[in-house]
Amino acid sequence: MKISSLSILFSLVLFYSLQAQTTYIHCGTLIDVNSKEALSEQTIIIENNIIKDVLAGYSDVPAGAQAIDLKDRTVMPGFMDMHVHIEHESGPKTYENRFREDEADVALKATVYCSRTLEAGFTTVRDLGGSGVNVSLRDAINRGFIRGPRIYTAEKSLATTGGHADPTNGVKDELKGNPGPKDGVINSVEDAYKAVRQRYKNGADCIKITATGGVLSVAKDGLGPQFTLEEVQAVVAAAKDYGMITAAHAHGVEGMQRAIKGGISSIEHGTLMDEETMELMKEYGTYLVPTISAGKYVVEKAKIPGFFPAIIVPKALEVGPQIQETFGKAYKNGVKIAFGTDSGVSPHGDNAKEFEYMVEAGMPEMEAICSATSNAADLLNISDILGSISKGKLADIVAVKGNPLTDITLLQNIDFVMKNGAVEKHSN
Ligand SMILES: [Zn+2]
Repeated sequence: MKISSLSILFSLVLFYSLQAQTTYIHCGTLIDVNSKEALSEQTIIIENNIIKDVLAGYSDVPAGAQAIDLKDRTVMPGFMDMHVHIEHESGPKTYENRFREDEADVALKATVYCSRTLEAGFTTVRDLGGSGVNVSLRDAINRGFIRGPRIYTAEKSLATTGGHADPTNGVKDELKGNPGPKDGVINSVEDAYKAVRQRYKNGADCIKITATGGVLSVAKDGLGPQFTLEEVQAVVAAAKDYGMITAAHAHGVEGMQRAIKGGISSIEHGTLMDEETMELMKEYGTYLVPTISAGKYVVEKAKIPGFFPAIIVPKALEVGPQIQETFGKAYKNGVKIAFGTDSGVSPHGDNAKEFEYMVEAGMPEMEAICSATSNAADLLNISDILGSISKGKLADIVAVKGNPLTDITLLQNIDFVMKNGAVEKHSN
């Protein structure tokens, strides 16, 4: 290396070390999700985007460091929602919009959903299926072009022909075409490998399958199995090759059991999960991501004439009400739970209502907070960088006035959000 490039390198290093920003946050109460304790009067020391230390008491802030006063707040790790659809938000026009909106329209609307999600205290989300715009949104957020949560995306969901995520369900014949692995539709073990590898190529971080029918697809069956065990196993094996975790949308028992036995990382919704299936979940270490918010939302909207196509209404009324009850039973049975809302079905930014629904069903407040922090990080395999306020992790921190351990609804009014060391929201 020449002297001139060495000196440029040296001045760059000097520039960035001078730029190092140290921040001291004084926390009235800090929820430690590792010990599951609420600690009073703590100081978090952050250098750039990394938590350097967490100390008891209010440490003196050295000259040149930034001080953030959260002495009147309860401070928690940034929340993580394991089931959103960041590209869309459902409404009476959802089905016709597919034929009207270009990708640019989808992307521009989604920037608003991204920012609402972040403002609500969700600094990380797992996006479980869209058109591919989700990959661009993730990258735009990571590059700092738009505001939003850190996104781990499945890109397109995988379905079988006519299954819940077949993109041409319900359209007229000339538009049906013959979607295959490239479009996320598989019908064999070989297709499963092709479809997973295509997702990897397209930039996906994880894989989602629709193991049973679903509520909002234009198809009759909402519960039956839609993948063979061999197809699930192939999806999981292919995903593992690329270091990706897997999620299975599932309402009925047969499809759920095939997904668990096939090695899927999490079951989404889990609506009709019985005790036998709960035992299987525990045996395989599978997470349940409940999405009670989606259940409540579709029941409410199914009662409005014309909101959903007619074929969807009976499915919404059957599936919707059971999700919360099943979640309560699964939690009490010892099934691992990771927080997820299915936002995009319900409105983006309302994610924290799920905490209230979880507590309503019998989960203690502390456990609900852990489900959206330490458990979610465990499901994503990123416990080394996120999921708790601990030394060495990324500074994703949220805060709220009052005590969410006695009133969980307070989490619907997050007034401080830090993501990756940057303050994204701070109201007094
Ligand atoms: Zn979903």
